[in-house]
This record gives sequence, structure tokens and C-alpha cells, in this order.
Amino acid sequence: MYFKRLEMHGFKSFAEPVVIEFHEGVTCIVGPNGSGKSNISDAIRWVLGEQSPKALRGGKMEEVIFAGTADRKSRGMAEVTLVIDNSTGILDIDYNEVAITRRMYRSGESEYLINNNQCRLRDIRELIMDTGIGVDGYSLIGQGKISDIVSNKPESRREIFEEAAGVVMYKSKKAEAERK
Ligand code: ATP
Ligand code: MG
Repeated sequence: MYFKRLEMHGFKSFAEPVVIEFHEGVTCIVGPNGSGKSNISDAIRWVLGEQSPKALRGGKMEEVIFAGTADRKSRGMAEVTLVIDNSTGILDIDYNEVAITRRMYRSGESEYLINNNQCRLRDIRELIMDTGIGVDGYSLIGQGKISDIVSNKPESRREIFEEAAGVVMYKSKKAEAERK
């Protein structure tokens, strides 16, 4: 399983549609300060369901929508699609390629899609749970995360191992059953 492609349209500094192809192995993104490198990792975080504007380096969620520049009008919608290679079948869905899409309008309305079919945020969460690619997983390491892991409380460190071991899904289902 690996990220194959990231498509952004109206997301942060990416006003026009942009497609970035990734391949297996390591990808490095280089560019001058302010060129949008961090916005790319924000897009990955966002499409996987991030709900905290702060985690996306903003104050309000609406700030992910292209705000316009001196010579370009602002946009009414941000859209990001992340295409994941699933030929090893780690994602519990019968497709070799899984496209996760998130859209957000200025009205605040959001849409989520899996392979172009509208779904709930919860469906995306369940699909990626225990694979390590979720926003709480260990594949998105933000600044300061390493020192968090090293210096954190034992319980927080345990959560990281639980995600890696694949028991988070069962814990979440158990908690839900107990609430009923
Ligand atoms: P550095 O090397 O300094 O870390 P970077 O390549 O990571 O830079 P980013 O932080 O990804 O740069 O991009 C910052 C740019 O994105 C800024 O110019 C900012 O104005 C622009 N930007 C962020 N949000 C929006 C938005 N909603 N609309 C338009 N531009 C935006
Ligand atoms: Mg940066």
C-alpha cells in the first residue's frame, strides 16, 4: 500500500487543479520557502479527515479554501483526492486503487467520497483505521512529533503501538457497543 496520487483544486495555495504522482519508496518535496511544500502535507492530512484547523496551520477550517491573490480570484470550494494503491489488499475494500475525496464549500458544507461514491467521514475513518495512515497514525509525522514520542506519557506512546498492532478498530467498536 502506498500513496499513488494527490489531486488538489482550490486547496490553500493550489488554486488551479494540481496532480502530484508518487511512487513506491521515498519521495522528497523540495522548493523555496512559501512555495507550498507544507500545504501538500496539509492536503494529505485534510483528505484523511483532519478536523482541527490548528493541525492544518490555520485558525478556521475555511482557510483551506484558496483565498485569492492580487491577480487571482478566491475559490468557493476546496477539493482534495488521495489515490492509494491497495493491490496488497490492506484496505478492506475490493479495489486495487482507492480514491478518497474531501470537498469543502465556503458555506461550511463538507462532502466525503470513496471511489467517487458519497460516504460519511466515519466510513473513511473505518477504512483507514489500523493501517497507520490516519490523521492519528504514525505515517504523518508533524514537526515536534518525534520529541512527543520520545518524551510522552506511557499511555500516549501505547496508543502509537496499538495503532501499529491493529487493535484500534476493535477498541473503538467495543467502546461503541458499550455506549449502546
Ligand atoms: P517553508 O519552506 O517556509 O516551510 P512551504 O513550501 O512549506 O514553505 P507552505 O507553508 O506550504 O510553504 O505555503 C505557504 C503559502 O501558502 C503562503 O504563501 C500562503 O499565503 C499560501 N496559502 C496558505 N493558505 C492559503 C489560502 N487559503 N489561499 C491562498 N494561499 C494560501
Ligand atoms: Mg513548510
